Amino acid sequence: MGITDPTEKQRVAALVKARDFGAIPLEHYIRLGDNPNGIWAGDDDAYVSHPASIEAQRMVAVKDAEAAKKVNIHLSTRGWGDYSLCEGVGDITRPDAEILAECRNLLATEHDVDNPRQSDARLLDKIKAARKAWATAPERKAAAEKAESEDIQRKITTGYCYSCESYCYGDCGHYSNDPKIRYHRQMSEATRESNYGINEGAEIE
Ligand SMILES: [Zn+2]
Repeated sequence: MGITDPTEKQRVAALVKARDFGAIPLEHYIRLGDNPNGIWAGDDDAYVSHPASIEAQRMVAVKDAEAAKKVNIHLSTRGWGDYSLCEGVGDITRPDAEILAECRNLLATEHDVDNPRQSDARLLDKIKAARKAWATAPERKAAAEKAESEDIQRKITTGYCYSCESYCYGDCGHYSNDPKIRYHRQMSEATRESNYGINEGAEIE
């Protein structure tokens, strides 16, 4: 049980034993019921160290890791482009031969494939390109983020105004070199729009 107060623990233990779940204050004991290792009641913090929770977290991590290896390889259009693309979906870290066989199978079995006869060399090129794109994605993302932050730095040092989004050099009267002002404005515009929806027709400044 994830309850530390001994009196409370005893009280809730009796309720759980009687399966009188309705009498347990659910705002405190939101994880409740039959777990693989018995009946358990406790709050979220206590549940973090519960074996069922640890196993659930482990499974999520495993699934995420598997999903991160899945890559689409564009093999062909279908029905002269009328249908969705024919794409190989699978774990890109597997050997080439295994992925190649999967691609061959897709090209042979999918409906109305425009370009079903492709050489092994061509398919292997696609597999290698897809693997390279997958492997370099994190560093390309980091590079893009770095470029964006450098762009922001450059704008700040050269007098770009994030208030009116131009090089107004203060002419707009609201000069700001804080990039966050743009997000604040977008947020307040979104809020204003949703408020407008609620107060239908009301004048909002
Ligand atoms: Zn300005």
